[in-house]
Amino acid sequence: MALIVQKFGGSSVADAEKIRRVAGIIADTYNAGNDVVVVLSAQGDTTDDLLEKAAEINPRPSKRELDMLLSTGEQISISLCAMALEKMGLPVISLTGWQIGMKTDSNYGNAKIKGVGCERIKSELDKKRIVLVAGFQGINKYDDITTLGRGGSDTTAVAIAAAMDAELCQIFTDVEGVFTADPRRVPNAIKLDEITFDEMLELASLGAQVLHNRSVEMAKRYGVNLEVLSSYVRKPGTKVKEVTKMEETKISGIAKDSDIARIAIVGLRDEPGIAFKIFRVLAKSNINVDIILQSIGRDNTKDISFTVAKTDKDAAVEALQANKEAIGFSSLSVSDKVSKVSIVGAGMIKSSGIAVMMFEALYDANINIHMISTSEIKVSVLIDTDMADLAMQAIHKKFFGV
Ligand code: ASP
Ligand code: MG
Repeated sequence: MALIVQKFGGSSVADAEKIRRVAGIIADTYNAGNDVVVVLSAQGDTTDDLLEKAAEINPRPSKRELDMLLSTGEQISISLCAMALEKMGLPVISLTGWQIGMKTDSNYGNAKIKGVGCERIKSELDKKRIVLVAGFQGINKYDDITTLGRGGSDTTAVAIAAAMDAELCQIFTDVEGVFTADPRRVPNAIKLDEITFDEMLELASLGAQVLHNRSVEMAKRYGVNLEVLSSYVRKPGTKVKEVTKMEETKISGIAKDSDIARIAIVGLRDEPGIAFKIFRVLAKSNINVDIILQSIGRDNTKDISFTVAKTDKDAAVEALQANKEAIGFSSLSVSDKVSKVSIVGAGMIKSSGIAVMMFEALYDANINIHMISTSEIKVSVLIDTDMADLAMQAIHKKFFGV
């Protein structure tokens, strides 16, 4: 008998009919002779609705009270789903984060998991019960409720799977698995049978919204068998693992991030210490910098440009202007109509010429590249946002033929 952890996202439990469908999947897993622990997210847009409700009362609520509020969404899901399973005649119990001992730090709104006490879950499984756990929430050392950050239920599921040494952790969602690109942007995107943890991590941090980043990190660290699959179509999804059979394939996916801005610092002196001065100013303002490009010096001046999250753009400009004299530059040029399009593939480690294929696809589509950055398993380009979907489609066609 195996222990299986299943997680269902908010859209999968959005209404009564969907909850019954989810209960059906859980019941089948249980009736096949498995121990089943299920993690649920809040129904549909509940978390967003709760945030709106809070804003109506107080635009700047304390993070503690916000977590108290947001954690209620998941509690609704688990109790309703438990009722659906009860109606089917199955033994079931729903438990909140604190009831299972989901211990976190005190960083309200983005708490990190410190440990999962498995005793309660174990004793319920021993009683042959299906255990439903509220995702996204935990408890800190003051016995206060915390939440793990948006999308955090995936991380709840992986943490439980790791702590309980589960055979498999299945993340059910409204798509059939991990695709080579976002099917809404690239209609011909293909579902992958498997993908490596590293590739998944890159894709997740590049904006592919399939899995919570931290859930993938944790799955990699503890060697959790992860699968992403559909709540609606009963067929195998995408397995996320350490090594895949598919490493011969050139790339696994294409991602786009449009929530970025580019800042160019023009007319810097071409002398040592300039980059240090610039990025120290930004670091002091807690601004994360992504791609950096420096021009070749001419007439003793040079330019440095870089990208930041769109939300950090104004703060970055402010910080730089405030230090204009100390850094020494003539002007700033800022654009937020840029997107980062990236290809990711473990196969890049072994084969060359992959970046070239990407650049050729962009050239054929007449798309200009502003910046390029690469890592061991990733190539990113910065292009104009109005070209980004076209770029993804052209790159997809080049690598996957469709
Ligand atoms: N309900 C939370 C959110 O909407 C957590 C989750 O869905 O994973 O972000
Ligand atoms: Mg999610």
